[in-house]
Amino acid sequence: MSNITVQDLCKTYPGQPPVKALDHIDLDVPPGEFVALLGPSGCGKSTLLNLIAGFELPSSGVLQVNQQAVHAPGPERGVVFQEAALFPWLTVWENVIFGPQMQGLPKAEYEERANEMLSIVGLHDFKNHLPVQLSGGMRQRVGIARILTLGSRVLLMDEPFGALDAQTRLTMQELLLSVWQKLKPTIIFVTHDIDEAIFLASTIYVMSARPGRIQSKINVPLARP
Ligand code: ADP
Ligand code: ADP
Repeated sequence: MSNITVQDLCKTYPGQPPVKALDHIDLDVPPGEFVALLGPSGCGKSTLLNLIAGFELPSSGVLQVNQQAVHAPGPERGVVFQEAALFPWLTVWENVIFGPQMQGLPKAEYEERANEMLSIVGLHDFKNHLPVQLSGGMRQRVGIARILTLGSRVLLMDEPFGALDAQTRLTMQELLLSVWQKLKPTIIFVTHDIDEAIFLASTIYVMSARPGRIQSKINVPLARP
């Protein structure tokens, strides 16, 4: 179960003058929805994602994941960074099992899940590689396998494919779509690319800037296989 509830959420960064990054945001994300936050630079997309991740605290309003107020990062919300942020001295396999290992989860269980997730992202044959031996897209696939192995049911991605070349970006978009179709996690990703939003998302929230607001919610008709 992953249900994200945002009501009347505001975020102002202190400063001279203060910056009102989010102004009365409402959204409700049911489990398994694939959401794009779309809008121009500075409209508060990253701020909203960082609040849901628990990296920042709201100034006011309600922010809940599974009926629990969000105060801090947690394993049910996995964040995929633009650079996959892998441990460079650990192999793909060691990177993927690191989280559950640290949490002391049952080994047989997380190893089975790690194998399954590495297969889903197409890296089963790369378990013993180091991150430096992989392409950028492959490193990101490890990042995705890692949070899925940890059991995250909410994937948060800030311009996940922004640093990749056009061909790799397409491959990664298709991969993310197939992960979503297989496992139905809730995905919220930030993009300023309307084509990417329409290709991937089932729901698009269009945001506008100064102050950051949600302008419209678009349900994307499923034009997919
Ligand atoms: P987007 O992701 O849509 O480009 P951001 O969430 O990064 O938008 O930024 C929204 C607004 O908040 C911008 O005006 C930005 O300059 C400001 N902002 C973002 N982070 C901070 C911060 N840590 N301190 C002060 N202002 C910030
Ligand atoms: P990505 O889209 O994951 O970045 P690339 O298309 O950049 O992958 O591929 C980088 C190199 O790695 C290519 O030579 C590609 O053939 C190889 N490669 C990528 N994934 C696999 C895989 N699952 N099995 C074998 N080779 C792969």
